[in-house]
Amino acid sequence: MTIRDNLQTIGGRIRAAEQRYGREPGSVRLLAVSKKHPAAAIREALASGQTLFGESYAQELVEKANELAGSNIEWHFIGPIQSNKTHLIAETARWVHSVDRLKIAQRLSAQKPADAPDLNLCLQVNISGESSKSGVQPEALAELAEQVAELPGLRLRGLMAIPAPEDDFALQRAVFAQVRTLQEVLIARGFALDTLSMGMTDDMEAAIAEGATLVRIGTAIFGSRQ
Ligand SMILES: *Cc1c(COP(=O)(O)O)cnc(C)c1O
Repeated sequence: MTIRDNLQTIGGRIRAAEQRYGREPGSVRLLAVSKKHPAAAIREALASGQTLFGESYAQELVEKANELAGSNIEWHFIGPIQSNKTHLIAETARWVHSVDRLKIAQRLSAQKPADAPDLNLCLQVNISGESSKSGVQPEALAELAEQVAELPGLRLRGLMAIPAPEDDFALQRAVFAQVRTLQEVLIARGFALDTLSMGMTDDMEAAIAEGATLVRIGTAIFGSRQ
């Protein structure tokens, strides 16, 4: 299977899930997660029409962005963020999905180049409790959203979540439904949010059923990482 074939297969899965769960056709975007894969693999995906790419390591993001300068890639940063790397992300990415504390948002706000468009942010929510250290606790989400929304140069777009792996479809849906509910609460408080970044290779359909607008897919496009 080539990267082109894989992109077609994933595109078919997304369209089928949109139809099956009553989502508007085209309402779910595909983020190709290219971490640990070479620029050549990204070029192959680009040649197949894929333009959204996600990276998890700041240094790797910058290296690939330099290597692929001049292409029409929209870079998304989706990994844990160290505060001494925020400038690399602010200078390179159009989207950051993994903001989970104010200090990081403040640094991104201060370091985004003045002539670049607003940096799109999602707040990462810690939805499966103890399984991950990343993500803001649901109880602290609204306060963080209020603080982040005040910062110049940033545009708060929605929420991101990485639930613990779970095979059962109904249980996958239940967790994604919690994320959707958190988003709805924020919208009811007046936040103009339009993005739910949730769903990976193994739980994409459940995420789409619960309102994902962007799914993050790596392995099913590029194969396994070393
Ligand atoms: C690596 C990664 C993905 C992609 O995972 P796959 O299992 O390869 O599809 C999605 N989201 C985040 C945050 C990741 O770090």
